[in-house]
Amino acid sequence: MKSSRIKKLVENLSPLVPSPEGGGRCGNTWRKERFWQSDNMIKTVFTRTIIRPSTVRSISHSLRCNTNIPRREMGMGTENVVARLKSSGLLQTKGLIGGKWTDAYDGRTIQVNNPASGEVIASVACMGEKETKDAISSAYDALGHWSKLTAADRSSRLRNWYNLLNQHKEELGQLITLEQGKPLKEAIGEVGYGASFIEFFAEEAKRVYGDIIPSTLPDRRLFVLKQPIGVVGAITPWNFPLAMITRKVGPALACGCTVVIKPSEFTPLTALAAAELALQSGIPPGVLNVVMGDAPKIGNSLLESPQVRKITFTGSTAVGKKLMAGAADTVKKVSLELGGNAPCIVFDDADLEVALKGSLATKFRNSGQTCVCANRILVQEGIYEKFTSSFSDAVQNLKVGNGFTEGVVQGPLINEAAVQKVDSFVQDAISEGAKVLVGGKRHSLGFTFYEPTIIGDVKNEMLIARQEVFGPVAPVIRFKTEEEAIQIANDTNAGLAAYIFTSSIKRSWRVSEALEYGIVGVNEGLVSTEVAPFGGYKQSGLGREGSRYGLDEYLEIKYVCMGNMD
Ligand code: ADP
Repeated sequence: MKSSRIKKLVENLSPLVPSPEGGGRCGNTWRKERFWQSDNMIKTVFTRTIIRPSTVRSISHSLRCNTNIPRREMGMGTENVVARLKSSGLLQTKGLIGGKWTDAYDGRTIQVNNPASGEVIASVACMGEKETKDAISSAYDALGHWSKLTAADRSSRLRNWYNLLNQHKEELGQLITLEQGKPLKEAIGEVGYGASFIEFFAEEAKRVYGDIIPSTLPDRRLFVLKQPIGVVGAITPWNFPLAMITRKVGPALACGCTVVIKPSEFTPLTALAAAELALQSGIPPGVLNVVMGDAPKIGNSLLESPQVRKITFTGSTAVGKKLMAGAADTVKKVSLELGGNAPCIVFDDADLEVALKGSLATKFRNSGQTCVCANRILVQEGIYEKFTSSFSDAVQNLKVGNGFTEGVVQGPLINEAAVQKVDSFVQDAISEGAKVLVGGKRHSLGFTFYEPTIIGDVKNEMLIARQEVFGPVAPVIRFKTEEEAIQIANDTNAGLAAYIFTSSIKRSWRVSEALEYGIVGVNEGLVSTEVAPFGGYKQSGLGREGSRYGLDEYLEIKYVCMGNMD
């Protein structure tokens, strides 16, 4: 493809950026802990539980919560952004319980770092069991009032929240870039996307309809009521610090439920800012609570409480399975949005430019850190050389850097563990015979930056194709026939998103139906929207988020039978 077209494609990645997308942080078998070393540099260690136990090193969670650990001071750039955020009132550092900003009861804090620089942005309350129990009680107490408001009243408060999120798009975007690292334009895009769930469910709040069922007996009348399930525990990841919260809290509040949110320890600031705006919007105290800190303790408190009737989670498959098992004791309803292993299939008959644009978008958005990111690019042999050559030209031109720098489309990875994981997958593929076509190593910028990478001649048996790489690495697999592509694509325990590129309408239908995935993009790499259901088959999860189907996750169905109606 001509270099001018490639240049245009890469420039067009900015549109890939502001059109944000769902998909939670959905790692797989990795557990991460981080702590500060005396040289003030963040060090992350990780545990890879299935493969290569020799690389394993595990550190107790308590290391995260520490008041006396050395820190890397903020540079001027970060300081200015933080000062602006502080003056806007959106830099909250305490948890929110019953409408009150609350420190951890034992005073412990946890540091939040900028992944682009390792700087400490803020220290937030490091909470655990006691605070979570109080947050649950507050949510339980608020349930009666909130669920009995008219749907129109709940709707208008949600609408106020939506308006405030939009009014503060810039500040929220800055917070996301600061704590998560994604480019500012992409971060602001996430705010728009995140807010769209609040708007959509503000509207849907008024449409939680029941049913009347024709009776089998003349003296009876049968009907179905839909009622809020109760207190919801919402556990969210770091890759979409705002959107993964609004996608859960929007429908929960619309239905009349109340929530206890536990954001990721890596990105609590965006969650707290969103909670501040929720308070300002007239959502009553106790309806929305936020606790963060000791994840297992908070998680267990939510699981053990009989007052919590629903757990909704986006994150790793390993943690999702634990939560599902833990919810069994109190028989809670569970929604899980877990890891994917998305195939992106490029057929010989694809429009090359459409396939390139779609593959770039689905692979490199958020630096490859979404669970709907293409994890395997399957390319048919007739178009393989042409595709990989143009794809390489485009990927070489992706600008990497601090998310606040103009023109950057690839930010840092979330932490050192993520870089080590990505690099170990790349090295493993190379040792198994794959070839690096672009990148393949840490970026010269240092910290947690990794070069946008393409690896050719990958086989589906390689580690990089079996597990989610969750980074800016595109493994390319060559295939011969449509049947082979479908077989490779379905040969995984995951089943979240898949993508196909073809000019044939018949093939579009055939392959879409054959793929064992909850989401299929046909000639499109960015498919998420608040109006469509998001969720996976197989071990990618349970339930759907967004769209009218998203409401069902927060509702109980009650059948009422009225007898002797003659
Ligand atoms: P990631 O790799 O994105 O951190 P995780 O599944 O570890 O994926 O984290 C997703 C969310 O789950 C985060 O908010 C994290 O704190 C939380 N989490 C991790 N472990 C547990 C646990 N044992 N119980 C409850 N929540 C947990």
